Amino acid sequence: MVDLELSNEYNFTKEDVIELLLSDGKELFELADKVRARYVGDGIHLRGLIEFSNICKRNCAYCGIQSSNKLAQRYRLNEDEILELAKKGVDFGYKTIVLQSGEDDYFSKDVMCRIIERIKELDVALTLSIGERSYEDYKAFKDCGADRYLLRIETTDSKLYKKLHPNMSFENRMECLYNLKELGYETGTGCLVGLPEQTVESLADDILFFKKLDADMVGIGPFIPHPETPLAGELNPDNFWMSLKVMAVTRLMLKDVNIPATTAMETINPNGRVLALTSGANVVMPNITLGECKRKYEIYPNKSGTEKDAEDYVASLVEKINSIGRFVSSNKGFRSPLK
Ligand code: SAH
Repeated sequence: MVDLELSNEYNFTKEDVIELLLSDGKELFELADKVRARYVGDGIHLRGLIEFSNICKRNCAYCGIQSSNKLAQRYRLNEDEILELAKKGVDFGYKTIVLQSGEDDYFSKDVMCRIIERIKELDVALTLSIGERSYEDYKAFKDCGADRYLLRIETTDSKLYKKLHPNMSFENRMECLYNLKELGYETGTGCLVGLPEQTVESLADDILFFKKLDADMVGIGPFIPHPETPLAGELNPDNFWMSLKVMAVTRLMLKDVNIPATTAMETINPNGRVLALTSGANVVMPNITLGECKRKYEIYPNKSGTEKDAEDYVASLVEKINSIGRFVSSNKGFRSPLK
């Protein structure tokens, strides 16, 4: 049996990780909560998310905004609209703005650089999550002031990756992650949990990969089938618990990293956010995209929070955070504020 005492080192082997992922999770969640408290404290970082375009040239089999989905209603915000939302996020008190989109070529290196520079004038940390780009683009974004980049590997099972990502290259995605690290970004990655044909062994490999990359942030979410994709079908409720276990083991092994309670977790379990925050997570990414666009950024159905106003959402979120004895952090929340 894996020894689950509170300690400073969890050098789990792949076999240990598998055993933990197959356990009921109870002990694991409690320990992950303690490790979270020890390494990153009780502050929760809120990152304001702007979904600025759902136009995408890729065809990821699980994703509702894949280019083959002709029913997706496409939108693209202009620079001023993106800036407006960023200012709104700053007014809400968010210390980080996250720009996320499909892979939309309209946002060339120069266009992105202008947006990055304008947002950085607002004195916030800036995370980009816009997919695979060249080393040169990543470098230009960093030079303009981007602080972090989020690019999930999605799965480290290269065969499964290839099946799910037609005309994409697993090797290139890996290379992008190592490029981001080399360029000095706080690099976020992560995986989907519960994909068809995904095994517990491959989830263990995902966690070992996060460690090997020395990821600064890890976002883990349950796979939620989207009806207009090749992976349409019934949601498997076990995906929630498995994603919570993957997240908790990640906290034990990577200790001081930032881990969000993901929107997908919140979407498939009514108490998902609190369960995640008490099982290792220390970040929430509230959506500041408005109305129609928020609804249209439908990577999976019934995305949590889409029906609420941003204001109401923040208020209820802060209340929830306080009700579990935690507080909203007032700093930018770079990795290891306590180190
Ligand atoms: N184009 C960017 C952003 C992708 S959207 C990129 O490539 O990084 C952000 C994340 O949503 C993806 O990384 C994926 O893990 C998740 N996602 C997409 N479809 C999903 C689904 N059906 N269920 C759960 N999560 C999904």
